[in-house]
Amino acid sequence: MSKLEIVTLPAPVLRQKTRPVTDFGPELQELIDNMIDTMRDARGVGLAAPQIGRSLRLAVIEDLPKEDEEGNEIPDSRDLYVIVNPEIVWESRTVVDGIEGCLSIPGYLGEVERAESIRVRGQDRHGNKIRLRLKDWTARIFQHEIDHLNGVLYIDKLTGEENFWTEEAYYKRFEDDGEEPAETAVA
Ligand code: ZN
Repeated sequence: MSKLEIVTLPAPVLRQKTRPVTDFGPELQELIDNMIDTMRDARGVGLAAPQIGRSLRLAVIEDLPKEDEEGNEIPDSRDLYVIVNPEIVWESRTVVDGIEGCLSIPGYLGEVERAESIRVRGQDRHGNKIRLRLKDWTARIFQHEIDHLNGVLYIDKLTGEENFWTEEAYYKRFEDDGEEPAETAVA
């Protein structure tokens, strides 16, 4: 496996609607493995194909670790998803605010409202049909990635202009108040 270069704004590929994946052969398998490697290396929880310069309907997602009843992280509890040609077929009316960052907009964070749960239809890495029901952070990351496949970025969906910070400013706010920062996800 090898690491791919992550493209950042203003790369035009980030604003294009992607093409469906039709060939599930060895080239796609290698691309997916390299995307997983690249996501982990960048400490992201998701990576969509346009973020490595490929205009394809494909994303990899590795959500946050699960926590036990005392709030401690359970080791090796992150779920890895490879999603090809995904489509959101249902969104909950309940929405939640959360803090997101993007590997293609390094150094910034912003607050975005997302559906709390969604249903997604698509294909796995071998082209088999899959259906997923997702909630909370996993649902948020999927919405962020599927937006990427439509040329949409989280900065298009901020809850307010004032809810956009440099990472430094974001964490400093909490430090100044002596509070624990809210959880964030960069994808
Ligand atoms: Zn992103």
